[in-house]
Amino acid sequence: MKQTAPVQKNEYYDVVFEDLTHEGAGVAKVDGFPVFVPNALPDEKAKIKVTRVKKGFAFGRLIDLKEESRFRTKAPCPIYKQCGGCQLQHINYEGQLLYKQKQVKDVLERIGKLDLSRVTVHPTLGMEDPWNYRNKAQVPVGTREGGLVAGFYQQRSHEIIDMNKCLIQQSENDRVVQAIKEICNRYGIKAYDEERHKGWLRHIMVRYGVATGEMMVVFITKTNDFPHKNAIMKEITASFPHVKSIVQNINPKKTNVIFGDETHVIWGEEYIYDTIGDIKFAISARSFYQVNPEQTKVLYDKALEYAGLNGEETVIDAYCGIGTISLFLAKQAKKVYGVEIVPEAIEDAKRNAELNGIENAEFEVGEAEVVIPKWYEEGISADTLVVDPPRKGCDEALLRTIIEMKPKRVVYVSCNPGTLARDLRVLEDGGYVTLEVQPVDMFPHTSHVECCALLKKV
Ligand code: SAH
Repeated sequence: MKQTAPVQKNEYYDVVFEDLTHEGAGVAKVDGFPVFVPNALPDEKAKIKVTRVKKGFAFGRLIDLKEESRFRTKAPCPIYKQCGGCQLQHINYEGQLLYKQKQVKDVLERIGKLDLSRVTVHPTLGMEDPWNYRNKAQVPVGTREGGLVAGFYQQRSHEIIDMNKCLIQQSENDRVVQAIKEICNRYGIKAYDEERHKGWLRHIMVRYGVATGEMMVVFITKTNDFPHKNAIMKEITASFPHVKSIVQNINPKKTNVIFGDETHVIWGEEYIYDTIGDIKFAISARSFYQVNPEQTKVLYDKALEYAGLNGEETVIDAYCGIGTISLFLAKQAKKVYGVEIVPEAIEDAKRNAELNGIENAEFEVGEAEVVIPKWYEEGISADTLVVDPPRKGCDEALLRTIIEMKPKRVVYVSCNPGTLARDLRVLEDGGYVTLEVQPVDMFPHTSHVECCALLKKV
């Protein structure tokens, strides 16, 4: 017999919201059956209309909000709903920080099966002023009524909406992107058209070294020519003397991946500089670099504290990028080994060690799950091991090697609580205990949360 859901399409229900999804929708239960409702917050009471019923859940729409959450606020951005880049602007900042801590606790329990009576999940470390924090903008370029537009893809569509100002972006980035759009327009530059796979300019990326004031501009184009190159370079550099590097990346493919494989410097330096704490970093176009410099310092300080170094340790920094965490650690360790998959990032890491006079850090390009087992066979073993993987978390082979290598401490930096929880479970089963988890708000107003976790060998 076909089981029927306790809710029906187009029917109205009075509900109390219990939770928030990762996309920022409220979750209410009708006879235990979850209904997801955009723009609703935990603890709010409302009348909703069910709009779609699926196998184990349903979607609905807010009809009448009867009791508001004390965390509800009016989203300051006029294009908040259209854009979708932020998910939490309708929650005040205090509420966002609490929600992120709760989200981390929930997944550690649900996915990681951790006993939260013995793992401390600290309150989320937030920013004093949580706006204009992003140091990097990557904007798609399109055409509207003959002219260029640059901004964002309208939610669930390929239409590009023009945007002059983003509230979480460094205003310097907005200013330069606007100017480049205007300059390109004057020279009749053609935007890339995704559907017809025609045109030239796909994305403009700018990256701003907030501490140094240096900027990099990257043109991501379909082909490797550059119409009116000299004139355009001249205009950009005359208007913006702090632009130190202009790069072209070529992406000839029919894909929604932003970058292609070919990158050339077309004007100025190969990299720009920034500093975090007292360490200076050179950053090239294809290297990963954290987007919120103020909170990066908070995160790295926490990783350093959890590493518990006294100058005698050998440390491995897996997924090291341009050596950011490695160099923070090197100052307090005997030796640091960093490994990272992007060759340009490893070149940057080596250059950064030299730039800062750090001689006890070594870097190797490759997959962490291949290089670290190889090091271990060669007799390199860590007292403290730091991992900072991408969203998909650590490879199983790496976790197995960690369990065999038995470093006294593991510091896990994570941008995805779900895979963090999964990997902590593996490490716990392999003889580690998770002592503390510190959520850090690297991405205010979005539902993303960064964590730093400390594990010790039992
Ligand atoms: N710790 C650095 C970078 C963290 S981002 C920082 O804070 O700046 C994650 C990094 O892992 C990226 O630089 C990415 O290129 C790298 N990466 C992704 N998969 C990898 C793998 N299998 N092995 C090694 N590095 C990898």
